[in-house]
Amino acid sequence: LLDALADMGALAIERVRLVEDLDRAERAAETDRLARALLTSISHDLRTPLASVLGSASTLRDLDAALPPEAKTDLLATIIEEAERLNRFIANLLDMTRLEAGAVAPNLSAQDVAETVDTALRRVERVLSAHRVSVEMEADLPALRLDPVLFEQVLVNLLDNAAKYAPAGTTVTVRARREGRAVIIAVLDEGDGLPADALERVFDKFYRVRLSDRVRAGTGLGLAIARGFVDAMGGTVTAGNRSDRPGAVFTVTLPVPARTVPGDLAA
Ligand code: ADP
Repeated sequence: LLDALADMGALAIERVRLVEDLDRAERAAETDRLARALLTSISHDLRTPLASVLGSASTLRDLDAALPPEAKTDLLATIIEEAERLNRFIANLLDMTRLEAGAVAPNLSAQDVAETVDTALRRVERVLSAHRVSVEMEADLPALRLDPVLFEQVLVNLLDNAAKYAPAGTTVTVRARREGRAVIIAVLDEGDGLPADALERVFDKFYRVRLSDRVRAGTGLGLAIARGFVDAMGGTVTAGNRSDRPGAVFTVTLPVPARTVPGDLAA
C-alpha cells in the first residue's frame, strides 16, 4: 500500500509537471498543494475506518462480560463494515495506480451487454436492497468487445453511487439501447442530481460535490476509475441530470464492433 501511495504522490507531481504554461514558481506551489491534498485525503480515508475498527474492538475486549449480546453484534457489524470500507478503498487506490501507470490492458472479447449488467446487479444486490431496481434493455442489442471485469466494475461503481446518493425507496434504473454505431448504457437515479459545474469534475480523483459526501462510505475514486476503465475500452462516460425528474444520469457509450463474425468479433 505504501508503494501505491508513493506512486500516486509521484504521479500527481508528474502531472503537474506537464502543465507547460505555469511558470516555475507557480508550478512548485501547485505541486506542493496537490501532493498535500492527496495525502490529506488518503490519510483521512484510511484513518477514519481504522479508528472505528480499533474503537469497536477495544470496547469488545474491555467490556466483554458487561455487554448485552445485541451490543456485541452491533460492534462486530461495525468492525466488518469498516474493514470492508478499508478493503474497498485500498482496491480503488490500486486500480487508480494501475490506471495512472498505464498498466490497465483491457482483455477484450465479445460480451452480451444484458448478461454483464445482470452480473453487476447481482454484485450490488446488498447495497441496493433498500432501492427498487428497474432494468430496461432494448431487445437484440449487438455483442460488444469488452473486458467483462472492467465493464462490470464500471457498472458496480455507478450503481454503488446511485445507492449512496439517492434516498432509500427510490428507483434505480439501468437502461441500454443501440444508437447508430454505439450502445448506450445509462444508470439513472432519483436523488438530488448534480450541479452543472460538477458534471465534469465528478470524474476527478477525490472530488466530492458536497463536503458531507466524505462521510458516506465513498472513496472519491469510483468515478475516476470508471472513466479510466471506459476509456481503456474505447468508450466514453459522462454525467448529467435527468430531464424527466430530479436525479443523476451516468451514460456509458461503447462502440459496436465494425464487423461481426458469429462466435468471434473482428474489430
Ligand atoms: P465517492 O466515493 O465519493 O462516491 P465517486 O468518484 O464515485 O466518489 O463520486 C464523486 C462524487 O460525485 C461523490 O462524492 C458525489 O459528490 C458525486 N456523485 C457521484 N454519483 C452521484 C449520484 N448518483 N448522485 C449525486 N451525486 C453523485
